[in-house]
Amino acid sequence: MGMVMPAVFFGHGNPMNALQTNAYTESWRRFGQSIPCPKAILALSAHWYIHGSAVTGTTLPETIHDFGGFPRQLYEVTYPAPGSPELARQIQKLLSPLDVCFDEHRGLDHGVWSVLCHVFPDADIPVVQLSIDESRNAEFHYEIGRRLQPLRDEGVLIVGSGNLVHNLHTYAWGHEKAEPFDWAVRFEGEIRKLILEGQDRKLFDYRMMGDDARLSVPTPDHFLPLLYILGLRRENDRVSFPVEGIEGGSLSMLSVCMG
Ligand code: ZN
Repeated sequence: MGMVMPAVFFGHGNPMNALQTNAYTESWRRFGQSIPCPKAILALSAHWYIHGSAVTGTTLPETIHDFGGFPRQLYEVTYPAPGSPELARQIQKLLSPLDVCFDEHRGLDHGVWSVLCHVFPDADIPVVQLSIDESRNAEFHYEIGRRLQPLRDEGVLIVGSGNLVHNLHTYAWGHEKAEPFDWAVRFEGEIRKLILEGQDRKLFDYRMMGDDARLSVPTPDHFLPLLYILGLRRENDRVSFPVEGIEGGSLSMLSVCMG
């Protein structure tokens, strides 16, 4: 029997985490040390949110600095992990007949590298990214997760990267330790509860949670990566939350691990 890889959602938060050592980055590092070494990584990031499905097919994906207004040092960070055209082709087959574009140019965005640089600092594990199709509903993303399940048996670590609560209008820039908003705490708590209860269908309808959801998830991009990880869950999986915390009042750093 081979080892079944866990599937994990990371709250990536502020890209500056890439340069810092803090409680979140330390937890990411410990997570990387606690699991069997993956053969490859498939990442789904809030920051590749496009019309349609695509996979990165390059052998050497570049580090994309897809943000503005940060210190020069952050633009100099590279995460030189190789790609895996082989895994990208396998993903195309697993998702067939869905049309998944083989993108030979796209590199890795900060949702991926700002976390992986702590989880796997040696950058020696191949990474492939799959886009999140903005035109699809919640159930679609969950179903894609389900169809990617066989990869867990083949030593592929599947990583979703977003933030369960992601409101940058209310985020206290420069005051990471600001008291979390009540609505952020309530929404995160409700999501945690539904995950533990296995109420996946209710999670598709997170908008039904009214104002708490409207404030916590103003746009779906940072929430949707979680749905892939829920779709990858198996009956005997243990659910754990290896990283916790709400930063700057309205940015949930919660990680959710299946398996
Ligand atoms: Zn982000």
